[in-house]
Amino acid sequence: MLVRKFGGTSMGSAKILASVVQIVKNSRDKQVVVVSAMSGVTNQLLQLTELALGGKHKAVKKGIVALLEQHIRVVRAMISDPKILTATERYFTKTLTDLTSFLEALAEIGELSAHSEDTIMAVGEQLSSRLLAGVLTASGMSAIQVDLEKVIPKRFQTANHNFYINTEKKFATIFKKVLQQKQIPVATGYFGQVPGGMLRSVGRGYTDFCAALIAAGLKAKKLEIWTDVSGVLTADPRKVKNAQILDKISFEAAAELAHFGARVIHPQSIHPAIRANIPVWIKNTFAPRDRGTEIVREVKRPKRLVSSITSKKGITVVNIASYRMLMQYGFLAKLFEIFARHETSIDVVSTSEVSVSVTVGKTKHLKEIITELKPFSKVSIAYQKAIVCLIGLGMAKQRGVAGEIFTTLGRAGISVDLISIAANEINITFVVDADKADKAVVVLHKKFF
Ligand code: ADP
Ligand code: MG
Repeated sequence: MLVRKFGGTSMGSAKILASVVQIVKNSRDKQVVVVSAMSGVTNQLLQLTELALGGKHKAVKKGIVALLEQHIRVVRAMISDPKILTATERYFTKTLTDLTSFLEALAEIGELSAHSEDTIMAVGEQLSSRLLAGVLTASGMSAIQVDLEKVIPKRFQTANHNFYINTEKKFATIFKKVLQQKQIPVATGYFGQVPGGMLRSVGRGYTDFCAALIAAGLKAKKLEIWTDVSGVLTADPRKVKNAQILDKISFEAAAELAHFGARVIHPQSIHPAIRANIPVWIKNTFAPRDRGTEIVREVKRPKRLVSSITSKKGITVVNIASYRMLMQYGFLAKLFEIFARHETSIDVVSTSEVSVSVTVGKTKHLKEIITELKPFSKVSIAYQKAIVCLIGLGMAKQRGVAGEIFTTLGRAGISVDLISIAANEINITFVVDADKADKAVVVLHKKFF
């Protein structure tokens, strides 16, 4: 049994949907299909939310019509059976009419809760899953939309381990039933009322995560994540032209990669799959014959020194100097507690005798954090920084890699602010000026590949 997730890029047009149909059709295994919203739709929905809150009724209506037209255009290009076509179009109209009412009510209330935001976002996957189910049915398969919006019981207050185990089990029950009826379930990658909100607690890669939970629940043989690149590459192909595809990457390295800016996989999506020991494959919908990248629990003998280079912009460095306290017990704990209380997570940490430097992505609560740090330290902030991260199991075995990295950067005239090398040496992370990040990735890629 396979779980296959098709990302927004695989749902974007009639042409690519035709490829999705072939991929689903060619499988000998039973399969559960999970979809994202058509590409761009989630962003459009978030925009509509803003417009509704701003009382821009006309613009909201216009946006809804555009969404309807976008989906209808694709479905008409793909489905000729009048019965399936009418039913699908009717679903689109009904779903978007409901959304309009919801947005109107939201404008009245004037405030957006995490759950309202989720309800609006869910529409993207509701439309795309119904679209694909219709398209598969029209091509002679027996497929059915599975809307996961209502599966999560309200009794959970926090999205903890138990919550996810429970969710996996729920998923397993739902999908087993559909599979027994010899139908191909096409599920919304959106999965309902996650405590704290889907967007706010899981984030934009929630479809990958949903697919991983389903795979874990069903103990699938494989989880395939179909996207628009032929696997995990040595760097973002949009930044480095000759980036190469990796055959294999470890879970750990993949999670680091995702965390430090590679959009191709979502860090959280890795966890349920690791736990259940399910191999994850990244495959290309635009080139289904390409092998893809396998994400495995462990890579025994890494072939390369460095397997991937990523960067993440929009980083702020906070420097905290404290002559009195630094070497005292519990100082770092105290620092981290302040950041945690203000819901600001720290990515990179570097310490010296008298100072600690940390990087944060979110600056919303920085003011409050600084106010709390001030009484016992001197704080300085550097904005517009970027994290660059080299990942590779091979680095642990070879000496002098760090030296080569910083020599290469020095030659390119890029100065480095803050360096962190994990003891497992699976990653070397450092901070540069944001406008130097792309160049840093390019010169390092040239050096190591
Ligand atoms: P989907 O809509 O299928 O989820 P995403 O846009 O989320 O697709 O992710 C795929 C994109 O991730 C690719 O088009 C690529 O530009 C980007 N990407 C960034 N870093 C990497 C990397 N190291 N390997 C592969 N893709 C990467
Ligand atoms: Mg994605």
